[in-house]
Amino acid sequence: MITIGVDDTDSEKGLCTTYLAAVMMERLERIGEIKGLPSLVRLNPCVQFKTRGNAAIAFSLDTDRLEETKEVALKTLMELSDFSGPKTNPGLVVAEEVPAELSCFYRRALDEVLDVSEAEEIIDKYGLWSRGFKNRRGLIGALAAMGAEFPDKTFELLAYREPKRWGTPREIDEESVWRADELTYPGTWDTVDHHNRKVVFAPHSKDPVLFGIRGEDPKFLISSLETIRSEPFERMVIYKTNQGTDVHINRSVIPEVVENRSYRLRGVVKKEPEAIEGGHLFFPLQSEDGKSSIKCAAFEPTKNFRDLVRDLVPGDLIEVYGAVKKMTLNIEKMEVVRLAERTALEAPICPSCKRRMKSAGRDQGYRCRRCKTIAEGKVTAVVPREIDTGFYEVPPCARRHLSKPLIRMRDRKIHPSR
Ligand code: ATP
Repeated sequence: MITIGVDDTDSEKGLCTTYLAAVMMERLERIGEIKGLPSLVRLNPCVQFKTRGNAAIAFSLDTDRLEETKEVALKTLMELSDFSGPKTNPGLVVAEEVPAELSCFYRRALDEVLDVSEAEEIIDKYGLWSRGFKNRRGLIGALAAMGAEFPDKTFELLAYREPKRWGTPREIDEESVWRADELTYPGTWDTVDHHNRKVVFAPHSKDPVLFGIRGEDPKFLISSLETIRSEPFERMVIYKTNQGTDVHINRSVIPEVVENRSYRLRGVVKKEPEAIEGGHLFFPLQSEDGKSSIKCAAFEPTKNFRDLVRDLVPGDLIEVYGAVKKMTLNIEKMEVVRLAERTALEAPICPSCKRRMKSAGRDQGYRCRRCKTIAEGKVTAVVPREIDTGFYEVPPCARRHLSKPLIRMRDRKIHPSR
């Protein structure tokens, strides 16, 4: 069995590593058999070198023709990589045996920002056949994808456009996409965004992807595909993937947070969330012992999620999930664990007729117009909260690839965004 890992072949201008891998698999099928589903592996979402979603691909081929495998793989990489992209640094690894150490490398690539030398050390140590181009950074993703393990996994079906259509607007019948969602949700998710009335499963860039259907099981992806009407696609591939699993999230505590990693942190809302220009919302979250705090953000693209964040008040006990950049946690989801009591000063209620009393004039207290009862001043009343306890998430249009959608957490108290 031969395992192949590939990464960093595309650029903002076009192409796509998953497409390159799809073509590579088709070509390699002439000299062997692709074993199982290929892996679409997302790595640390905080990595600044990524083009889009920091994806890498690995797959296994059953063949005894190792030299031909390398030749076909390399030829395809040379043909379908955009070497002109400033951030394109292709990496390809072909191995007869995947060293056990790669599963640890995968975990680190999910969590940390690694140096190419670390990938090269492993390649040298195990004598792996590899080809790295330009600054060779793609070797990191290629190795990590080969080492990926899936204690939890989901699936994504990617349909690819005919090359003659690349760069033109995608022809997709939106109504059929809504119908596909209706038929297959919650077996599939993030095809459409109900709240924001948007189809979200197709990119708008010039790359070869027509659309991607994400879900719990390949059978749901196929029924969704059969419902969707679109321009003809050249090919489609179903990948197993670590998307939608929260595998990037580390449970930790506020004082131990490190830049460019993703966390689940528990704390108490310290101040009312405040908006800045552009509609981004921020609030400080304090550790339960009150000794440390971190800034949390719900940025404008998280749309209606910000309304929920705006409902938080000082004293609410919450857990936030998200990536830490510039020492600010970008919330992907949150659990409201305990709501603080929210109070406000109100005019008192008349003890006789139970109606709200009216001001009797400046500094003259309150009076019931009917019963003539009087009261000295305003009273403190508990205001009902809009937000409830349980889990809340950003809408599909703002979802991070690795974030576990709440619909996959049905054993918890969830408020899925759909
Ligand atoms: P696309 O989604 O279109 O495939 P992308 O967002 O996956 O693009 P890449 O072109 O793959 O972006 O670029 C990501 C680069 O970062 C690759 O070279 C990859 O090897 C590297 N990389 C991935 N994870 C890490 C990490 N943890 N530390 C350092 N480099 C990383």
